[in-house]
Amino acid sequence: MMACTRNPKSPHTPSRPTRLGWRLAFLGTVLSACTSTSPPDCRFPGATLLAPYVGQGHGIALVVERKAIVFDAGPPGQDALARSLRHAGVDSIEAIYLTHPDLDHRGGFDSLFAAFPVRRLVHGPLDSARRAQTIAWACPRTALGCDTIWHGRSRTHSGDIRVDAHWPDSGAIFGDDNDGSLVLHASQGDRGLLLVSGDLDTIGELAATESVQPVEVLQLGHHGSRTSGHLRFLGKASPRQVIVQYGLDNDYGHPTVAALARARAVGAQIVDPAKDGDQRVEFDPLGCAE
Ligand SMILES: [Zn+2]
Repeated sequence: MMACTRNPKSPHTPSRPTRLGWRLAFLGTVLSACTSTSPPDCRFPGATLLAPYVGQGHGIALVVERKAIVFDAGPPGQDALARSLRHAGVDSIEAIYLTHPDLDHRGGFDSLFAAFPVRRLVHGPLDSARRAQTIAWACPRTALGCDTIWHGRSRTHSGDIRVDAHWPDSGAIFGDDNDGSLVLHASQGDRGLLLVSGDLDTIGELAATESVQPVEVLQLGHHGSRTSGHLRFLGKASPRQVIVQYGLDNDYGHPTVAALARARAVGAQIVDPAKDGDQRVEFDPLGCAE
């Protein structure tokens, strides 16, 4: 179980995505904090989830012991995630997981690479032409290069953070990038922290549902699109909080009322950086100090 307290709404809600607007939004936003009341597991250091307002895109990160594990980088022309990481005291990025190569998920690479050493870039299966068009330039900028992951594969990180992939199956390559979006489950010990699914739609979600495990926080797929966030997928993940990342006044109608209703139907609290400013979730194991 998780008990959360919302901070009062920031006096500076996110601005339109001008460069000045981004700066004002960051400086003026009070981070909200939610504190887990799950039984403490004192073997592990506390983790923090950062979910800033990045505009029309996805970009969040888990931070443990000053190291970040990034899940998508946000759209181009902003550095909201990099600024949130600096604000949290991060000194390096252990891995950037790219759910799929759409620009609204990788456009923020420049700002991350400019601000931090990056150990590895992890992505799903891509053919060589698509890889060359989208991410090949970034691989030499990492310490260990690029790495491909799919269902059944996992990677481990500082603080015993483990990331398991639940989609796509068997290295399959899809014609539509959204359909090949990675489904990634981050955990610490037996505690599921975070589930992301990029812009995967319900067909992929349903295929991944069987192997998905419960988590405390889920990022709503495809910015809250009508065709993402299937009830069975959400119900299996059973999140206490659902983060929805989208740009104010976007042209896609994100997030849809239906997707938000499905998230609420499984008992989740909606976390909305576009309305409430940069968000922060603490996974500290309370009670370990006694
Ligand atoms: Zn997207």
